[in-house]
Amino acid sequence: MIGNMLSSEQQQGINTPATIGELLQNAASVVDRIDARWLLQSVLNVDAAFLITHAELLLGMEQIVHFQQLLARRMAGEPVAYLTGERGFYDLVFDVTPDVLIPRPETELLVEMALSKIPPDRCCNILDLGTGSGAIAITIARHRPDIYVTAVDLSPLALAVARRNAKRCSVENVVFIKADWFSGFISEKFDVIVANPPYIVEGDPHLEADGLRFEPTIALVAQNNGLDCIRRIVDQAPDYLEHSGWLMLEHGYDQADVCRRLLDKTGFSHIFTRSDLAGIDRVTGGQYGLVPA
Ligand code: GLN
Repeated sequence: MIGNMLSSEQQQGINTPATIGELLQNAASVVDRIDARWLLQSVLNVDAAFLITHAELLLGMEQIVHFQQLLARRMAGEPVAYLTGERGFYDLVFDVTPDVLIPRPETELLVEMALSKIPPDRCCNILDLGTGSGAIAITIARHRPDIYVTAVDLSPLALAVARRNAKRCSVENVVFIKADWFSGFISEKFDVIVANPPYIVEGDPHLEADGLRFEPTIALVAQNNGLDCIRRIVDQAPDYLEHSGWLMLEHGYDQADVCRRLLDKTGFSHIFTRSDLAGIDRVTGGQYGLVPA
């Protein structure tokens, strides 16, 4: 299989010893240079600095074959994070498997906004809906060891990854619950509710793009123009928010207006939208139970 995907020059590399520098140079002609580095780091279990300072190091055949196999899978579209089994997010590193969405840099904005709204001086309850790998809940919990975080997901496989990540990040103030959005709660109230729900429109060509087609559809796609989950969360959030608590949602590039309207109609005030580092509207939120200013 690998033989079919690589040129004869690259195939030669499979059968002959090569240095780190040579392997990376070859790989850069078929995959992104940074991806090639991640893959080789993972094969050798070393950091980026090691690759740079050991460019002349000759590798064994076993390592070379393993690297070429990962390269072939990357060329077939599999995301690097699934091949290496991890991804950095905020200031932590998380296990990822194809059972969870790969944490995105734009989602760090949701964490930043949540941390900015959590009262600095008192213990409170935070809820993360559709936690997936647990990246959002665990990062918040790690930065605020004095608060309680509850993280919900429908998928037991995702929850297993999230629980593993809590251990990996030495976080003890998160509990994980299997539930369909708010269905796991009766009378609990939260100070801040965050969610990165599925919001891509069914049939969006973007879903066939490199990477996305390997990720769980349940974490990406929502009915009704991508708004089904967002609507359900906004509708039900008031029943689970403390007085003047915040709801914050990540959403698609063209969904800020509709999210703002939904929050407004449901009685939220102090509604805000923030754009991500690419300048795209990405997080919208509001405060419940206050008279609008
Ligand atoms: N931001 C992701 C993407 O478009 C989607 C994440 C989501 O649906 N919550 O690749």
